[in-house]
Amino acid sequence: MSTKTLKIAVIAGDGIGLEVMPWGIRCLQAAAKIYNLSLEFSEFDFASCEYYKKHGKMLPDDWKEQLSGFDALYFGAVGLPDVVPDHVSLWGSLLQFRREFDQYINLRPCRLMPGVRCPLANRKPGDIDFWIVRENTEGEYSSVGGKMFPGTDREIVIQETVMTRTGVDRVLKYAFELAQSRPKKHLTSATKSNGIAITMPYWDERVAEMSQSYKDVSVDKFHIDILTAHFVQRPNHFDVVVGSNLFGDILSDLGPACTGTIGIAPSGNINPTGKFPSLFEPVHGSAPDIMGKGIANPVGMIWAGQMMLEHFGYKEASAAMLKSIENVLSKGGDAVITGDMGGRGNTKTFGEAVEQDILAGS
Ligand code: ATP
Ligand code: MG
Repeated sequence: MSTKTLKIAVIAGDGIGLEVMPWGIRCLQAAAKIYNLSLEFSEFDFASCEYYKKHGKMLPDDWKEQLSGFDALYFGAVGLPDVVPDHVSLWGSLLQFRREFDQYINLRPCRLMPGVRCPLANRKPGDIDFWIVRENTEGEYSSVGGKMFPGTDREIVIQETVMTRTGVDRVLKYAFELAQSRPKKHLTSATKSNGIAITMPYWDERVAEMSQSYKDVSVDKFHIDILTAHFVQRPNHFDVVVGSNLFGDILSDLGPACTGTIGIAPSGNINPTGKFPSLFEPVHGSAPDIMGKGIANPVGMIWAGQMMLEHFGYKEASAAMLKSIENVLSKGGDAVITGDMGGRGNTKTFGEAVEQDILAGS
């Protein structure tokens, strides 16, 4: 038995978040059973539009105290635009967590899964397997700037990119350490220092300096334009890719799109210091168009749970969970696979198949 208990706050949220969450939990419990992990789940009903209807806000005033002691937030999906406008539900929940818990890393896997149609020709599972690390708090998304002479033909609009030494170094440190933990030990940095003449050379400088402390990690850098081409033409080159807020944003959609997994991939918003909880969620939203039908694909939710175990260092259990997801994707069959992936199955058939595969300890 692992001595540490991983404390997980479960926030299912809205729509299909409520339907896929139980399967995420059951699969984690299955992995905990086989690998003797101590996982403790506590469920919260806030950060949902139901909660908003009752209380007129997405979160209770003391949400930070309520959640601070947890290692992880396991998050479903938020938003029911017919009930609460998306900007209110999103800003009132997920983005609060991200900011208040200083989740300065956004982490996404880019992995070719069996049974998933890859839009790139001649690629098979195993060929593409890398992580995208995005800076999540500053950079191009700093709301610094303004408009002058509005409404006239002299209009000027300016928005600044803000990079701080602390902000850049901490995301690079995380990316170097992640690369160091992997067999290939390779880090790629996204830049554009030939066109963005102040901030991007600074980014490159910090990469070069930090690489001195990680001599076992091989490093390369590409300008963002050619980097996107490489994602399509030679995705097997990559191991860990790190980018600023904007570049990371673009790459973290492009990467999973290249592997056909954009609808089923997970995402982590991570505070690597452990001072605050990190959040793991499927990338998909609450999908109001299919909620209540029991047909939502639970892969993203289960994969997010797997990613959470991997993040906290439960190597064996997380590897087994990933293998079970892949087993079901490749061999589950028409009756198990959900409709979005061309099968006749539903949330339960798929979730149960993964749970059973984990329990079988294959
Ligand atoms: P977000 O709320 O994250 O901005 P969105 O509202 O644009 O996302 P989603 O809620 O992800 O979009 O839904 C987009 C489409 O994908 C919808 O048609 C939805 O039914 C489908 N979809 C999303 N997630 C799933 C899933 N897990 N299983 C099956 N279909 C899904
Ligand atoms: Mg939505």
